[in-house]
Formats: sequence, structure tokens, C-alpha cells
Amino acid sequence: MSSFAVLHASELVTLAGPKRARVRSELSELAIIPDGGMLIRDGRIEVVGPSNEIENKAGEAEVIDVRGKVVLPGFVDAHTHLVFAGNRLDDFERRARGDTYEQIAKAGGGIWSTVEKTREANEDELVTQAKKHADWFLRCGTTTAESKSGYGLTLDDELKILRVIRRLSKEAPLEIVPTFLGAHAVSREMNTDEYVDLVINDMLPRVTSENLAEFCDVFCEQGYFDIEQSRRILTAAKRFGLNLRIHADQLSESGAARLAGELKTTTADHLEKTDEHGIAALKSGGVQPVLLPGSVYALGSTCYPRAREMIEAGLAVVIATDFNPGSSPTPSMPMILSLACTQMKMSPAEAISASTINPAYSLGRGDQIGSLEPGKLANFAIFECEDYRELAYWFGLPLTHGVYIKGKKVQ
Ligand SMILES: [Zn+2]
Repeated sequence: MSSFAVLHASELVTLAGPKRARVRSELSELAIIPDGGMLIRDGRIEVVGPSNEIENKAGEAEVIDVRGKVVLPGFVDAHTHLVFAGNRLDDFERRARGDTYEQIAKAGGGIWSTVEKTREANEDELVTQAKKHADWFLRCGTTTAESKSGYGLTLDDELKILRVIRRLSKEAPLEIVPTFLGAHAVSREMNTDEYVDLVINDMLPRVTSENLAEFCDVFCEQGYFDIEQSRRILTAAKRFGLNLRIHADQLSESGAARLAGELKTTTADHLEKTDEHGIAALKSGGVQPVLLPGSVYALGSTCYPRAREMIEAGLAVVIATDFNPGSSPTPSMPMILSLACTQMKMSPAEAISASTINPAYSLGRGDQIGSLEPGKLANFAIFECEDYRELAYWFGLPLTHGVYIKGKKVQ
């Protein structure tokens, strides 16, 4: 039995509330306890409350004094591409010089350069690089990250990436939720329909028989997988027992948000081009939107998704990093908070709910993480500021003071 007390947080941001994802005005209700504390026992939160009450119950427990600091549930990042080889620095420089997507692809850049490097890398090499990325997430206060495959695009390479994700979840402290994204792009060796057959007939059976993923995702976009192909893959994945996510309407309004509503996917992600019809479809299907402002920013675009309309429509909005080497090379949820407030006009409180409790529900873990409530895992982060709004306000500056997962200090 190991126990300790966290005392005197200037704000203990608990997000205590209904046992479901938060919508509308609930997104602004953070259930903050001033001079708050909590008692942790065996990796779980036992009591939460004002520090004087916690102190009385703490007995002999070790005390961590966090005076002058904010304590939050660890961030939950519901959309990342954590495992890949190499980087895309050359693409980054070309884009800065004004090259187009086509020019970059012609010069050997784009997703194919990452696929080639990832195919060449062995499992150990990928684990080493992924551990470095996982450490970056911890340093930004993230304690759980969804992680997609999708840079292999052959049966063996997709399985390799998912095995790396599994190893990472055992060997690194960051908690990982695995997603199979075999349909991230079409393998160059075949046409799209042949590749869709490969995903459905070869990949999905192996991925699920080896228990390598909880979710299946598809990149539904012109030039990648159209509505019909996406529907085929996601319908098959559902039969195999996977829950569904979808990359929808990032570059064009393709009807992907409506497909998400029809299939009642757990999330629809990106949604930069989603209009009011798409928003209505998400609402009727009970789909959580996952907004990824980091990729809009890093691509130098100004077309952010319509977060305010989604909140007003009653959607349980999530924000995430989309960490990947091409379009969103950031593991930093505080940076995403900043973008959510400045570019999508979310309030700091809404952004906090959208990066903690709502993503926890989108990953099927709302009963375990995402808020600081008795019975939940002691996954939390301590920040060097007195007001939680500072996390979204000061940008480009790491304010992380300490990070705990299941009651263990990992940063
Ligand atoms: Zn993505």
C-alpha cells in the first residue's frame, strides 16, 4: 500500500461532473477547487477536496506541496501518429520556400518518404524513436495518447508498427490506445480497390486476431479513400469488433462527416471543411468531433474547423495534436490549447474539457481517466502557474512541473 497527498494546489482542476463527455455549457464547468488537494492510494485517487480536509485524512502519507501551482488531469491526446521513422525536415523547408504539395511530392517528399523509411526500419529502431516521442508527450503534460499505424501500407509493415505500439505501451510510461490505420494512403504497388481488399481480407483479420488495435481509422479524402471505399473498410472493421474513427473533410468537403454520422463512428477527425450539414450528421450519429488545429497551423493554412458551431450544436468536442512528421510535428497539448483559443475561439475552459475528459470518453476510458475524481487513475500534471488559463495564454513555453501516471512520477 503506497499513498501520498498532493496539497495546496492554487487550483485543483478536477473536471468532476456527469459520467459522460461534456457538451455546451458543461464544457466550461471545470469544478476547480482553490487550495485543493487529493489523496492517492495504490495508483488511484482516493479523496479530492480542500487541502485542510485532505491534510486531516492524510495520516502518515507523504506530502507533495504544490503551492502556487495548478494541478490538472493529464492531457488525453485522442489523435496521434506516434510511430514513424525519420522526419520531414526537407518538406518543411520546401514549404517555407513556397513549394506546393505536388512539388514536394515530386522531389521525393510527402507521406511516401515516411512510408519508405518506416518500411526500412526494424522494430527496435522504431521503438527507440517512438520512446523519444512518447517522452515529449509526457514533458507536455500528456498521460494518454491514441496512436495510429499507417506508415507501413503492407500487411507485414502495418503489423510491425502495431507491435511497436504494443511494445511502447509496455516499455514506456505513457499510456497508449492503439488504432489500425492501414487505410492511411494507397500502397503504390496496387490500385485503390485492390488495396481496400488487402485491408479488409488480410490486414483486419490479422490485426484483430493478434489483438493489436482497439479502433480502426480511414483517411477518407479525394485521392485517398472515397466514401464507398471508406464505408467498406469501416463496416468490415466493425464486424471484426473494432470501434471506428475517421479522417474526415480535411482538404475537401467529401461527405465524410455524413458517413461518420451514418456509421455512428466514435469520432470524426479534422473536419476543417465540414459544413452545417456535416455538423448535423455528427450530432444525429452521436459522433465526437476531434479538431486538430496544429495541422492547420503547421501547413500555413487559416481554414480552422468551426468549433463554435459544433459546440452550439451540442457536440462533445475534442482537441488533439495530430502529432505526425508531415503536417503537425508537435506533441504539445498546451500549444493546441493556445490555437483552440486564438484561432477557433474556444474559451480556455472549453479547451481544457476538450483535451481531458472528452477525449477520455472518445477513447472508451472515461470511467478511468480524464478527471480527478475518487476511484479514477492518479494520472495528473502539475504546472508552474496559478491560473489554469495561463496554459493557453503563455505559448511556446513549457510550464510542466511534474507528471504522474497511476500515482508514479514519470516527469
Ligand atoms: Zn491524422
